[in-house]
Amino acid sequence: MPASPQPSAEYEARILQALQELGIPASYATNRRQSFQFEGTDLVFIGLDMAGREQRLERHAATQWQAMRAAAEIASVALAAISAFRSFDYQKQIIARKLAAGQSIEQILRVSALPGFSEHHTGRAIDIGTPSSPPLTEAFEQTAAYAWLSRHAQDFGFTLTYPRGNPHGVCFEPWHWFCRET
Ligand SMILES: [Zn+2]
Repeated sequence: MPASPQPSAEYEARILQALQELGIPASYATNRRQSFQFEGTDLVFIGLDMAGREQRLERHAATQWQAMRAAAEIASVALAAISAFRSFDYQKQIIARKLAAGQSIEQILRVSALPGFSEHHTGRAIDIGTPSSPPLTEAFEQTAAYAWLSRHAQDFGFTLTYPRGNPHGVCFEPWHWFCRET
């Protein structure tokens, strides 16, 4: 049964609190070009990523992902899960680490969402890789895996969120796919 959505005002307060703790001006959330992404509540284990960490997706997206991966395998195309569900707090840690490493907030936002805005919170987004290509790079666009996804992912409800020239101000991410309701 789907969880009732969190009230937006409450979620916005949580986001503003996190930004305050990170030392990021609230304007980065209030002038947003992206909408709130709520944490998924019906998450299921989908296997280990290439680094051996457990990965989870929302139940329906997990079913669609397993079906898509199996179909690709029949076509001799290997799809690997790099990163799936990420919690609000984990996203906050990612941003904190990048700030601590000396990156500017503008640099960070080209490739990472603020906590509360990442599609990975929903459990319906997955970063996909393939063994022949370094993970999370534009080189993925040149792989057979990307070519296959471009033709077939939509049959499983997955679409690319950040194509070239997307209106979100986010870099082209050929690896990031989102499962829409089907
Ligand atoms: Zn992603």
